[in-house]
Amino acid sequence: MHDVVIIGGGPAGLAAGIYAARGGLKTLLCEGKILGGQIVLSFEVENYPGFPQGISGMELIENFTKQAEKFGVETSYEGVTCINDERECKSVTLTNGSCIKTKTIIIAAGASANKLGCPGEKKFTGKGVSYCATCDGAFFRNKTVAVVGGGDSAIEEALYLTNLVKKVYIIHRRDQLRAIKILQDRAMQNDKIEFIFNHTVKEIQGDKFVNGLMLENTKTKELTRLSVDGVFIYVGTTPNTEFVKDLIKLDEEGYIITDEKMETNVEGIFAAGDIRSTPLRQVITAASDGAIAASSAQKYIEAKF
Ligand code: NAP
Repeated sequence: MHDVVIIGGGPAGLAAGIYAARGGLKTLLCEGKILGGQIVLSFEVENYPGFPQGISGMELIENFTKQAEKFGVETSYEGVTCINDERECKSVTLTNGSCIKTKTIIIAAGASANKLGCPGEKKFTGKGVSYCATCDGAFFRNKTVAVVGGGDSAIEEALYLTNLVKKVYIIHRRDQLRAIKILQDRAMQNDKIEFIFNHTVKEIQGDKFVNGLMLENTKTKELTRLSVDGVFIYVGTTPNTEFVKDLIKLDEEGYIITDEKMETNVEGIFAAGDIRSTPLRQVITAASDGAIAASSAQKYIEAKF
């Protein structure tokens, strides 16, 4: 029997692991993909305290992982298909079919990138359609690309792309950006960036590789073709809560509702990070959630077992 099973190996899960294992709990972290979550796709994290020069998402996660391993967090690279609450204890079922018994669970499975859902998106994924500028930006050196979206991710990654490409169009469906002001100002001042407001992507076109986008003006419905060599899509994220939705209470957008101890509607099951209903989704808030969830799990075990 484990004391705690943590589902998800991003900043929330790894921070929970550090706190739980350091607190002496027998801790298993399950990560079905790669450790690190969405932040490993970020070229630079410049708002995580302690790194005044900034740090790459990958390097930050390597540090989190080393620290978790140092305190004895055990890692399984199996995904989790379901969780159960069996009163005396909980259980977690893995993709290989095995069932792990545990006193507590911390759900830190994060969120996944949304798709546009337009014709051509699937066909050209990996052939000019990308969801990760840090991974794929170098393929577009001195070329023209588009970034779709108006949030922090879209603007941050468009700015990153300007270091590599000739020109970046930012296509946003409204005329107001959602991104924080500091990013907006930087993008507005960057000569390589041109905004196309009030437009959506109707189709991604190409031959073997992307060569253009069919855009629709949201006000006039007029269609125009934009020639680009690639398109980076940052249109928000969806919480990975499908596997817990029958047991755990979610908000109307599908995020897990917790109290200030990070406890869900089920005693002894906690949630942390981007999967949680929260006003701010950052590495620092994910790490903080993880620490609180682990500490709450420890107090729950001390009181119950
Ligand atoms: P987001 O804040 O949800 O923004 C998504 C953007 O995509 C919005 O501008 C939205 O338009 C647009 N959009 C959504 N669906 C669309 C569609 N079907 N077609 C066209 N446009 C569409 O997502 P995000 O930028 O990925 O950020 C996610 C979270 O991570 C946020 O909490 C953000 O603050 C955080 N984050 C923080 C940092 C940082 O602090 N360094 C960096 C990256 C992300 P509307 O505005 O019209 O809704």
